[in-house]
Amino acid sequence: MRDKKDLLEMTFEELTEALTALGFPAYRSKQVYQWLYSGQLDFNGMSNLPKDMRSKLTDEFIAGGLKIAEKLISKIDGTRKYLFELKDGNTIESVLMKYHYGYSVCLSTQVGCRMGCAFCASASLGMVRNLTVGELLAQILTISHDIGERISHLVLMGIGEPFDNYNNVIEFMRRINREDTLNISFRKMTVSTCGIVPRILEFAREGIPVNLSVSLHAPNNEVRQKTMPVAKKWPFDELLAACKEYTEITSRRITYEYSMIENVNDSIEFAEILAKKLKGTLCHVNLIPVNTVEGIGFGKSSKARVEAFKNVLERYGIAVTVRRELGSDIMAACGQLRRKNISESGKV
Ligand code: SAH
Repeated sequence: MRDKKDLLEMTFEELTEALTALGFPAYRSKQVYQWLYSGQLDFNGMSNLPKDMRSKLTDEFIAGGLKIAEKLISKIDGTRKYLFELKDGNTIESVLMKYHYGYSVCLSTQVGCRMGCAFCASASLGMVRNLTVGELLAQILTISHDIGERISHLVLMGIGEPFDNYNNVIEFMRRINREDTLNISFRKMTVSTCGIVPRILEFAREGIPVNLSVSLHAPNNEVRQKTMPVAKKWPFDELLAACKEYTEITSRRITYEYSMIENVNDSIEFAEILAKKLKGTLCHVNLIPVNTVEGIGFGKSSKARVEAFKNVLERYGIAVTVRRELGSDIMAACGQLRRKNISESGKV
């Protein structure tokens, strides 16, 4: 079967061109575009289009090509985890979280991940490919349509390394920021990187006020290199220098994520080292008691150790929060998302 073109890949102008080439009048493009960004990705559900147009669209195009293969809802906090099957049979996971300020989604950016962080389930099967702009869009659109609500915030913290799929990720964020699409403010978007230095520097010059999180997870090179292979390529000091440059260019603070692993990176001594390195920089530290991942033997730091670590940072005047764990009963928490073979899971 020939590859169908993905309408979500296209800008409004490109979509108009594609539909005009098939003989449809220009006003139909606007209708299709509006349907897509309302979350209706099934051409047959576009009720104000003539039937023959709907079947022509189905023959010629896809819209993202995602199918919900499985949906899990947390009994603890209502967090939802979606397993999506992509058009080529690969799978990814995305998470929907409800906060007092609205709905937030955590999206995947790649099928698998090649960064190899020792504590993360997403790394376990390696990387297959980047997600396309259409697939990035289809995650948020499908979830929004499924719950019948607007999504106000998003974090690129699912499977994959966003800065390893830089161009698509930037284009995606620019697309959903537009008034004629989802109109989501850049300030309500967060991208998280494990520390790809050249991309941090490029991102600093992108001119979009998206929040940046950097996964630090250690206060020095020795420990960081043991758990995060990316640190062998871009050592700790180089990473901090890039982060400093980012804050100088953008005047925006960076959130440093620090997953706390018992007896690996959670001592008072480490808190002191970290505090001295971050003191006076424009930042915020988010402590994440490490989540359990099957087959990976890292222990979660106790509440007391997290609290003690937090106190040290605060003494140095550094803003710190402890991340609330959402969706732990459905394996939807940080580091627990993974790609799987579709046959491993039941379909809904
Ligand atoms: N690749 C990007 C995006 C992933 S964001 C990055 O590394 O930043 C997901 C966050 O959860 C990252 O900070 C990641 O390091 C962290 N994480 C991974 N495994 C974890 C685990 N088992 N427990 C807690 N946090 C984890």
